[in-house]
Amino acid sequence: MRISFDLDDTLICYQPGALHEPPRSRWWPRLWRGEPLRSGAATLLADLAAGHELWVYTTSYRHPQTVSWWLWGYGVRVRYVINQYRHEQVFGRRGRSKHPAAFGIRLHVDDSWGVWLENRFERNVCVVLPDDPDWAQKVRDAVARVARNEVPAPPPDLPEEYRAG
Ligand SMILES: [Mg+2]
Repeated sequence: MRISFDLDDTLICYQPGALHEPPRSRWWPRLWRGEPLRSGAATLLADLAAGHELWVYTTSYRHPQTVSWWLWGYGVRVRYVINQYRHEQVFGRRGRSKHPAAFGIRLHVDDSWGVWLENRFERNVCVVLPDDPDWAQKVRDAVARVARNEVPAPPPDLPEEYRAG
């Protein structure tokens, strides 16, 4: 299945105490190493890539090629990167901030319960928080659930008023 990942506060975490992956290839040009990858992401993404198609879906304007090279430096290949420009090419500036289903994405991983809420009828968003040390396992669980045609767990920080619906 096609799985996408958010960047800021999902794969790229800068909060105090955030843990990062060591760069995989020493020969990889320092200029292209760019930002640090969240700890646990390299193994998670490599494992998922063996059976799934990985995309990045970010509301940032990072260049898709830069994002692909950046992850390739950690041994991870992503098939496609949707940045804010590409999102706006399809949807303009109105509507949802992210619409994974419209791109054929069956599971999107994000830190924002707002993105979960926007896509609550598709039930295709897994929310993991930037300070969660077990985040990778939660993503694996969500992938397994979606593969069984179940829905991902609701966001841990979802406000009470949205829980019943
Ligand atoms: Mg984010």
